[in-house]
Amino acid sequence: MPYNYDVNTRSIYIHWPFCPYKCNFCPFVAIASHDQFMERYHNALVAEIKAYASHYSSKMPLDTIYMGGGTPSTYPDALLLDMVCILRDVFVFDASTEITIEVNPGTVRPEQLKLWKSLGINRLSIGVQSLKDPVLKKLNRHQSAQDVYTVLAQAKDHFENVSVDFILGLPEVSAQEWKDLICTAVLWPIGHISIYFLMVHEDTPLYFGVKKKQISLPCDDEIVDLYYWTIEYLALHGFEQYEISNFARAGYQSRHNSVYWDRKPYKGFGLGACEFDGITRLQNQKNLSKYLESIAKGEEITIFSETLSPEQVYLEKVMLGLRRSKGVSYDLLMENLPEQQISLLREKVTLLQESDFIAERDGNLVLTPKGLAVENDIVVKLSL
Ligand code: SF4
Repeated sequence: MPYNYDVNTRSIYIHWPFCPYKCNFCPFVAIASHDQFMERYHNALVAEIKAYASHYSSKMPLDTIYMGGGTPSTYPDALLLDMVCILRDVFVFDASTEITIEVNPGTVRPEQLKLWKSLGINRLSIGVQSLKDPVLKKLNRHQSAQDVYTVLAQAKDHFENVSVDFILGLPEVSAQEWKDLICTAVLWPIGHISIYFLMVHEDTPLYFGVKKKQISLPCDDEIVDLYYWTIEYLALHGFEQYEISNFARAGYQSRHNSVYWDRKPYKGFGLGACEFDGITRLQNQKNLSKYLESIAKGEEITIFSETLSPEQVYLEKVMLGLRRSKGVSYDLLMENLPEQQISLLREKVTLLQESDFIAERDGNLVLTPKGLAVENDIVVKLSL
């Protein structure tokens, strides 16, 4: 099933898979030691973007552009300049378009930041993860706290919309060290913080390290306590939680991520890139050689597509909606459900309200603080 070109797509994602190293916990489509392929990959990306644009008779306007990875801050300057020129040739966007680039500390030169700004990039997402150098080293992440301070200081001169990512639950980070990190971060010149729980993905070195008991992780209760503490502390310092993992000062919520949570269409370009046209979810080829080869031959690069059933659509609405502080519209959930299932849903909601896991606010279902920690269980309980 190909992407539906008739939908109103206003957001694009561009994947840059190259990384200077491979972190032990990484589940992403990311490759280290392949820099010799960067130019060929860039050319393939350009071909993919042009092929997409050829389906339209006029330039499509964009509301958000997101360059993720991998480590997009390793995109060579001349190639990135070329990429933005191509994007301007085939899309319409301006200063009101949110254009994000993901950055890894230790991979950025000051001239790059100037270049990005001049190209119209207006949002940086910096992968800090932790300020504890020995922990990062153990996870094969080659960056230091000093790298973080350096990039923050440099970014301040060019970008006012800066986000940082942290990972909660890293091994050998004490509760006090986590709190110190958050207390420090609220003083930084940033408008947005993403906090992800460390996930142990199968077949990663972290997975094997944990399995062999070489790496021990903090217990769940400690992580949950720190999560609640973090929500409160960030709120006190002007960072409102607007999604289960995301906190922002007023005006700095991620517009691109909201597209995902609102189930709006977005087009993905590049290795392993995902996309959604409102009905079908698709994913590109994840093998670099096959991706480059298929693009060169003008062959299909989609390796996965799934047209969602009404039940899957419902489940997505529950999952994505409950992650957000504003919740999910009750009416939206009941849309297209048969009468019998609506009654069943009402009964389930009543039970969850009585147990204080969810609440109804302005016609939306929202997780209570008690429900926040068991979000997955609530989703299961609300499934059809
Ligand atoms: S820098 Fe990011 S994408 Fe690259 S290996 Fe590490 S976690 Fe994965």
